[in-house]
Amino acid sequence: MKRARAPRSPATVSPEVLAALCGACADVRREEPLHLHVSFRIGGPAEVLVVPRSADELRAVACALFAAGVPYAILGRGSNLLISDRGVSGIVLKIGHGLDRARWSATGVTAEAGAGLPALAMRASERGLGGLEFAAGIPASVGGAIAMNAGAHGHSMDEITDFVTVLRPSGEETWGRHDLAFAYRTSRLQREPGIVLDVTLRLTPADPGRTRATLASWLDDRARTQPIGPPSSGCIFRNPPGDAAGRLIDAAGAKGLRSGAVEVSDVHANYMINAGGGRAADVLTLVDDVRHRVRERFGVELELEVKLVGEFPSR
Ligand SMILES: Cc1cc2nc3c(=O)[nH]c(=O)nc-3n(C[C@H](O)[C@H](O)[C@H](O)COP(=O)(O)OP(=O)(O)OC[C@H]3O[C@@H](n4cnc5c(N)ncnc54)[C@H](O)[C@@H]3O)c2cc1C
Repeated sequence: MKRARAPRSPATVSPEVLAALCGACADVRREEPLHLHVSFRIGGPAEVLVVPRSADELRAVACALFAAGVPYAILGRGSNLLISDRGVSGIVLKIGHGLDRARWSATGVTAEAGAGLPALAMRASERGLGGLEFAAGIPASVGGAIAMNAGAHGHSMDEITDFVTVLRPSGEETWGRHDLAFAYRTSRLQREPGIVLDVTLRLTPADPGRTRATLASWLDDRARTQPIGPPSSGCIFRNPPGDAAGRLIDAAGAKGLRSGAVEVSDVHANYMINAGGGRAADVLTLVDDVRHRVRERFGVELELEVKLVGEFPSR
Protein backbone atom coordinates (compact mmCIF):
# COMPACT_ATOMS: atom_id res chain seq x y z
CA MET A 1 0.00 0.00 0.00
CA LYS A 2 1.31 3.46 -0.90
CA ARG A 3 2.05 5.60 2.15
CA ALA A 4 1.06 9.25 1.70
CA ARG A 5 2.85 11.47 4.18
CA ALA A 6 3.28 15.11 5.07
CA PRO A 7 6.50 16.71 3.82
CA ARG A 8 9.43 16.80 6.21
CA SER A 9 11.67 19.79 6.92
CA PRO A 10 14.31 20.56 4.26
CA ALA A 11 17.51 18.46 4.26
CA THR A 12 19.67 19.07 7.31
CA VAL A 13 22.71 16.87 6.65
CA SER A 14 25.44 18.90 4.94
CA PRO A 15 27.44 17.45 2.02
CA GLU A 16 30.58 17.55 4.24
CA VAL A 17 28.95 15.47 7.00
CA LEU A 18 27.49 13.07 4.45
CA ALA A 19 30.94 12.63 2.87
CA ALA A 20 32.49 11.96 6.30
CA LEU A 21 29.83 9.33 7.06
CA CYS A 22 30.32 7.66 3.66
CA GLY A 23 34.07 7.59 4.37
CA ALA A 24 33.41 5.89 7.72
CA CYS A 25 30.78 3.35 6.71
CA ALA A 26 30.02 1.35 3.55
CA ASP A 27 26.24 1.35 4.13
CA VAL A 28 24.83 4.89 4.13
CA ARG A 29 21.27 5.23 2.75
CA ARG A 30 19.32 8.35 1.76
CA GLU A 31 15.58 8.55 2.45
CA GLU A 32 15.45 5.01 3.82
CA PRO A 33 11.90 4.00 4.91
CA LEU A 34 12.12 3.43 8.65
CA HIS A 35 8.92 1.39 8.98
CA LEU A 36 11.05 -1.46 7.63
CA HIS A 37 13.40 -1.17 10.62
CA VAL A 38 10.97 -1.02 13.56
CA SER A 39 8.66 -3.65 15.07
CA PHE A 40 5.59 -1.34 14.84
CA ARG A 41 6.04 -1.15 11.03
CA ILE A 42 5.16 2.56 11.24
CA GLY A 43 7.08 5.67 10.23
CA GLY A 44 8.44 7.74 7.35
CA PRO A 45 12.00 7.77 5.99
CA ALA A 46 15.27 8.78 7.59
CA GLU A 47 17.03 11.60 5.76
CA VAL A 48 20.20 9.53 6.21
CA LEU A 49 20.41 6.01 7.69
CA VAL A 50 23.88 4.77 8.59
CA VAL A 51 24.29 1.02 9.14
CA PRO A 52 27.75 0.13 10.48
CA ARG A 53 28.55 -3.58 10.14
CA SER A 54 31.55 -3.86 12.44
CA ALA A 55 32.90 -2.36 15.64
CA ASP A 56 35.52 -0.44 13.65
CA GLU A 57 32.89 1.01 11.33
CA LEU A 58 30.79 2.05 14.33
CA ARG A 59 33.83 3.70 15.96
CA ALA A 60 34.57 5.59 12.72
CA VAL A 61 30.92 6.69 12.37
CA ALA A 62 30.83 7.86 16.00
CA CYS A 63 34.04 9.86 15.44
CA ALA A 64 32.51 11.53 12.36
CA LEU A 65 29.28 12.34 14.21
CA PHE A 66 30.99 13.71 17.32
CA ALA A 67 33.53 15.71 15.28
CA ALA A 68 30.70 17.32 13.29
CA GLY A 69 28.66 17.90 16.46
CA VAL A 70 25.43 16.97 14.66
CA PRO A 71 22.40 15.36 16.30
CA TYR A 72 21.59 11.72 15.58
CA ALA A 73 19.12 9.07 16.69
CA ILE A 74 20.01 5.45 17.48
CA LEU A 75 18.00 2.45 16.38
CA GLY A 76 18.64 -1.00 17.80
CA ARG A 77 16.01 -3.57 16.85
CA GLY A 78 13.45 -0.74 16.81
CA SER A 79 11.15 -2.53 19.27
CA ASN A 80 10.46 0.45 21.53
CA LEU A 81 10.17 3.26 19.01
CA LEU A 82 7.40 5.26 17.37
CA ILE A 83 8.77 6.93 14.24
CA SER A 84 6.97 10.02 12.95
CA ASP A 85 4.92 9.67 9.77
CA ARG A 86 7.07 12.49 8.37
CA GLY A 87 10.19 10.53 9.09
CA VAL A 88 13.39 11.76 10.69
CA SER A 89 15.40 14.79 9.62
CA GLY A 90 19.10 14.23 10.04
CA ILE A 91 21.00 11.06 10.84
CA VAL A 92 19.76 7.75 12.17
CA LEU A 93 22.30 5.15 13.22
CA LYS A 94 21.20 1.53 13.04
CA ILE A 95 23.05 -0.93 15.27
CA GLY A 96 22.07 -4.49 14.48
CA HIS A 97 23.20 -7.25 12.17
CA GLY A 98 26.95 -7.31 11.56
CA LEU A 99 27.53 -5.85 15.01
CA ASP A 100 26.22 -8.93 16.78
CA ARG A 101 29.16 -11.13 17.71
CA ALA A 102 29.36 -12.66 21.19
CA ARG A 103 32.36 -13.94 23.16
CA TRP A 104 31.45 -16.42 25.89
CA SER A 105 33.35 -17.22 29.09
CA ALA A 106 32.67 -19.38 32.13
CA THR A 107 31.11 -16.41 33.90
CA GLY A 108 29.17 -14.66 31.18
CA VAL A 109 29.30 -13.08 27.77
CA THR A 110 30.57 -9.98 26.01
CA ALA A 111 28.19 -9.19 23.17
CA GLU A 112 28.32 -6.48 20.55
CA ALA A 113 25.49 -3.97 20.89
CA GLY A 114 23.50 -5.28 17.92
CA ALA A 115 23.30 -8.87 19.22
CA GLY A 116 19.74 -10.10 19.64
CA LEU A 117 18.69 -10.57 23.27
CA PRO A 118 16.45 -13.65 22.72
CA ALA A 119 19.27 -15.51 20.94
CA LEU A 120 21.71 -14.61 23.74
CA ALA A 121 19.23 -15.92 26.34
CA MET A 122 18.86 -19.24 24.49
CA ARG A 123 22.61 -19.58 23.99
CA ALA A 124 23.30 -18.85 27.67
CA SER A 125 20.90 -21.58 28.74
CA GLU A 126 22.50 -24.10 26.33
CA ARG A 127 25.93 -23.19 27.74
CA GLY A 128 24.85 -23.82 31.32
CA LEU A 129 24.68 -20.15 32.29
CA GLY A 130 21.72 -18.70 34.15
CA GLY A 131 20.39 -15.20 34.72
CA LEU A 132 19.24 -14.25 31.23
CA GLU A 133 16.11 -16.45 31.03
CA PHE A 134 13.82 -13.45 31.64
CA ALA A 135 15.04 -11.84 28.40
CA ALA A 136 14.16 -14.65 25.97
CA GLY A 137 10.90 -12.97 24.88
CA ILE A 138 12.16 -9.37 24.68
CA PRO A 139 12.80 -8.62 20.97
CA ALA A 140 15.67 -6.22 21.68
CA SER A 141 19.28 -5.72 20.75
CA VAL A 142 21.50 -5.99 23.80
CA GLY A 143 22.48 -2.29 23.39
CA GLY A 144 18.83 -1.23 23.31
CA ALA A 145 18.08 -3.47 26.30
CA ILE A 146 20.81 -1.72 28.31
CA ALA A 147 19.62 1.76 27.24
CA MET A 148 16.06 0.89 28.33
CA ASN A 149 16.98 -1.38 31.26
CA ALA A 150 14.62 -3.91 29.70
CA GLY A 151 13.03 -6.42 32.01
CA ALA A 152 10.34 -9.02 32.54
CA HIS A 153 9.17 -11.57 35.12
CA GLY A 154 10.58 -9.49 37.98
CA HIS A 155 14.10 -9.26 36.52
CA SER A 156 15.89 -6.63 34.45
CA MET A 157 19.20 -5.93 32.72
CA ASP A 158 20.67 -4.00 35.67
CA GLU A 159 20.92 -7.26 37.68
CA ILE A 160 23.28 -8.95 35.22
CA THR A 161 25.20 -6.03 33.68
CA ASP A 162 28.89 -6.07 34.53
CA PHE A 163 30.15 -3.27 32.27
CA VAL A 164 29.47 -1.61 28.95
CA THR A 165 31.77 0.01 26.36
CA VAL A 166 30.31 3.37 25.37
CA LEU A 167 31.43 5.66 22.54
CA ARG A 168 31.25 9.23 23.76
CA PRO A 169 32.27 12.63 22.37
CA SER A 170 35.20 12.45 24.82
CA GLY A 171 36.29 8.98 23.61
CA GLU A 172 35.71 5.32 24.36
CA GLU A 173 34.64 4.74 27.98
CA THR A 174 33.89 1.72 30.14
CA TRP A 175 30.84 2.14 32.35
CA GLY A 176 30.17 -0.24 35.23
CA ARG A 177 26.66 -1.01 36.41
CA HIS A 178 26.63 1.96 38.80
CA ASP A 179 27.81 4.40 36.13
CA LEU A 180 24.80 3.40 34.05
CA ALA A 181 22.37 4.79 36.69
CA PHE A 182 19.76 2.16 35.91
CA ALA A 183 16.19 2.69 37.04
CA TYR A 184 12.80 1.33 35.94
CA ARG A 185 12.99 1.13 32.10
CA THR A 186 15.69 3.77 31.83
CA SER A 187 19.41 4.38 32.19
CA ARG A 188 21.97 7.16 31.87
CA LEU A 189 22.05 6.45 28.13
CA GLN A 190 18.59 8.07 27.85
CA ARG A 191 19.98 11.34 29.21
CA GLU A 192 23.56 11.68 27.96
CA PRO A 193 25.18 11.15 24.57
CA GLY A 194 26.63 7.67 24.29
CA ILE A 195 26.58 4.82 21.81
CA VAL A 196 26.86 1.33 23.29
CA LEU A 197 29.53 -0.65 21.46
CA ASP A 198 29.44 -3.82 23.54
CA VAL A 199 28.03 -5.19 26.75
CA THR A 200 29.50 -7.63 29.29
CA LEU A 201 26.91 -9.62 31.23
CA ARG A 202 27.78 -11.57 34.36
CA LEU A 203 25.88 -14.87 34.47
CA THR A 204 25.95 -17.78 36.89
CA PRO A 205 26.53 -21.49 36.32
CA ALA A 206 23.16 -23.22 36.08
CA ASP A 207 21.70 -26.54 35.03
CA PRO A 208 20.63 -26.21 31.35
CA GLY A 209 17.53 -28.35 31.98
CA ARG A 210 16.36 -25.97 34.68
CA THR A 211 17.05 -22.75 32.75
CA ARG A 212 15.41 -24.25 29.64
CA ALA A 213 12.27 -25.07 31.63
CA THR A 214 12.09 -21.58 33.20
CA LEU A 215 12.64 -19.94 29.85
CA ALA A 216 9.98 -22.08 28.15
CA SER A 217 7.39 -21.43 30.85
CA TRP A 218 7.99 -17.65 30.68
CA LEU A 219 7.68 -17.73 26.88
CA ASP A 220 4.39 -19.64 27.31
CA ASP A 221 3.12 -17.01 29.78
CA ARG A 222 3.95 -14.31 27.27
CA ALA A 223 2.21 -16.09 24.41
CA ARG A 224 -0.94 -16.41 26.55
CA THR A 225 -1.03 -12.84 27.89
CA GLN A 226 0.49 -10.66 25.15
CA PRO A 227 -0.29 -10.19 21.46
CA ILE A 228 2.78 -11.88 19.98
CA GLY A 229 2.80 -11.66 16.20
CA PRO A 230 1.03 -8.52 14.98
CA PRO A 231 3.31 -5.47 14.67
CA SER A 232 3.55 -3.53 17.93
CA SER A 233 6.03 -1.64 20.03
CA GLY A 234 5.48 -3.65 23.20
CA CYS A 235 4.08 -1.68 26.12
CA ILE A 236 3.14 1.86 25.13
CA PHE A 237 3.02 3.29 28.68
CA ARG A 238 5.24 2.91 31.72
CA ASN A 239 3.66 1.25 34.71
CA PRO A 240 2.77 3.90 37.30
CA PRO A 241 4.19 3.25 40.80
CA GLY A 242 2.45 0.29 42.43
CA ASP A 243 0.13 -0.45 39.51
CA ALA A 244 0.07 -1.80 35.95
CA ALA A 245 -0.77 0.51 33.05
CA GLY A 246 -2.50 -2.42 31.29
CA ARG A 247 -4.86 -2.97 34.23
CA LEU A 248 -5.79 0.73 34.38
CA ILE A 249 -6.36 0.96 30.61
CA ASP A 250 -8.52 -2.17 30.66
CA ALA A 251 -10.55 -0.93 33.66
CA ALA A 252 -11.02 2.45 31.94
CA GLY A 253 -12.75 0.63 29.08
CA ALA A 254 -10.11 1.38 26.45
CA LYS A 255 -9.42 -2.19 25.22
CA GLY A 256 -10.31 -2.51 21.55
CA LEU A 257 -10.33 1.28 20.86
CA ARG A 258 -9.28 1.92 17.28
CA SER A 259 -7.90 4.81 15.25
CA GLY A 260 -7.24 4.08 11.57
CA ALA A 261 -5.39 0.79 11.42
CA VAL A 262 -4.10 0.94 15.01
CA GLU A 263 -5.98 -0.53 17.94
CA VAL A 264 -5.59 -1.03 21.67
CA SER A 265 -4.99 -4.76 21.93
CA ASP A 266 -7.80 -6.79 23.45
CA VAL A 267 -5.21 -9.33 24.64
CA HIS A 268 -3.05 -6.88 26.66
CA ALA A 269 -4.41 -3.34 27.03
CA ASN A 270 -0.95 -1.72 27.25
CA TYR A 271 -0.14 -2.89 23.70
CA MET A 272 -1.27 -1.15 20.53
CA ILE A 273 -1.41 -3.23 17.38
CA ASN A 274 -0.80 -2.08 13.82
CA ALA A 275 -3.32 -4.04 11.75
CA GLY A 276 -1.54 -2.96 8.53
CA GLY A 277 -0.73 0.50 7.16
CA GLY A 278 -1.03 2.13 10.60
CA ARG A 279 0.28 5.64 11.14
CA ALA A 280 2.04 7.37 14.03
CA ALA A 281 -0.82 9.91 14.05
CA ASP A 282 -3.26 7.05 14.80
CA VAL A 283 -1.07 5.85 17.66
CA LEU A 284 -0.97 9.36 19.14
CA THR A 285 -4.75 9.75 18.83
CA LEU A 286 -5.14 6.55 20.84
CA VAL A 287 -2.45 7.64 23.32
CA ASP A 288 -4.41 10.85 24.01
CA ASP A 289 -7.71 8.97 24.29
CA VAL A 290 -6.31 6.30 26.64
CA ARG A 291 -4.57 8.91 28.81
CA HIS A 292 -7.77 10.94 29.05
CA ARG A 293 -9.85 7.92 30.09
CA VAL A 294 -7.34 6.76 32.70
CA ARG A 295 -6.96 10.30 34.09
CA GLU A 296 -10.74 10.77 34.34
CA ARG A 297 -11.35 7.38 35.93
CA PHE A 298 -8.32 7.00 38.24
CA GLY A 299 -6.61 10.42 38.39
CA VAL A 300 -3.40 8.75 37.10
CA GLU A 301 -1.25 10.41 34.40
CA LEU A 302 0.22 7.69 32.17
CA GLU A 303 3.73 8.33 30.82
CA LEU A 304 4.98 6.97 27.53
CA GLU A 305 7.45 4.08 27.60
CA VAL A 306 7.75 4.02 23.81
CA LYS A 307 10.23 6.63 22.48
CA LEU A 308 9.07 9.13 19.86
CA VAL A 309 11.63 9.69 17.10
CA GLY A 310 11.35 12.33 14.36
CA GLU A 311 9.07 15.28 13.76
CA PHE A 312 5.76 15.34 15.60
CA PRO A 313 4.50 18.81 14.65
CA SER A 314 1.10 18.48 16.26
CA ARG A 315 2.47 17.82 19.78
C1 LIG B 1 6.43 -7.75 21.29
C2 LIG B 1 7.27 -6.90 22.21
C3 LIG B 1 7.47 -7.31 23.51
C4 LIG B 1 8.25 -6.53 24.39
N1 LIG B 1 8.44 -6.97 25.67
C5 LIG B 1 9.20 -6.25 26.50
C6 LIG B 1 9.42 -6.70 27.85
O1 LIG B 1 8.95 -7.74 28.28
N2 LIG B 1 10.20 -5.92 28.65
C7 LIG B 1 10.76 -4.74 28.21
O2 LIG B 1 11.48 -4.08 28.99
N3 LIG B 1 10.56 -4.30 26.96
C8 LIG B 1 9.80 -5.01 26.10
N4 LIG B 1 9.59 -4.55 24.82
C9 LIG B 1 10.16 -3.26 24.40
C10 LIG B 1 11.58 -3.33 23.80
O3 LIG B 1 11.88 -4.63 23.32
C11 LIG B 1 12.64 -2.87 24.81
O4 LIG B 1 12.43 -1.55 25.22
C12 LIG B 1 14.06 -3.01 24.25
O5 LIG B 1 14.97 -2.69 25.27
C13 LIG B 1 14.34 -2.11 23.04
O6 LIG B 1 15.52 -2.58 22.43
P1 LIG B 1 15.84 -2.25 20.90
O7 LIG B 1 17.14 -2.83 20.55
O8 LIG B 1 14.68 -2.62 20.05
O9 LIG B 1 15.98 -0.66 20.99
P2 LIG B 1 15.22 0.45 20.14
O10 LIG B 1 13.76 0.30 20.31
O11 LIG B 1 15.76 0.48 18.78
O12 LIG B 1 15.71 1.74 20.95
C14 LIG B 1 15.26 1.96 22.28
C15 LIG B 1 16.14 3.02 22.94
O13 LIG B 1 17.45 2.50 23.12
C16 LIG B 1 18.40 3.34 22.49
N5 LIG B 1 19.47 2.48 21.95
C17 LIG B 1 19.32 1.38 21.16
N6 LIG B 1 20.52 0.86 20.88
C18 LIG B 1 21.45 1.63 21.49
C19 LIG B 1 22.87 1.61 21.54
N7 LIG B 1 23.61 0.67 20.93
N8 LIG B 1 23.49 2.60 22.26
C20 LIG B 1 22.79 3.55 22.91
N9 LIG B 1 21.44 3.62 22.88
C21 LIG B 1 20.79 2.68 22.17
C22 LIG B 1 17.62 4.07 21.40
O14 LIG B 1 18.22 5.27 21.03
C23 LIG B 1 16.28 4.28 22.09
O15 LIG B 1 16.32 5.39 22.97
C24 LIG B 1 8.82 -5.31 23.93
C25 LIG B 1 8.63 -4.91 22.60
C26 LIG B 1 7.86 -5.69 21.75
C27 LIG B 1 7.68 -5.24 20.32
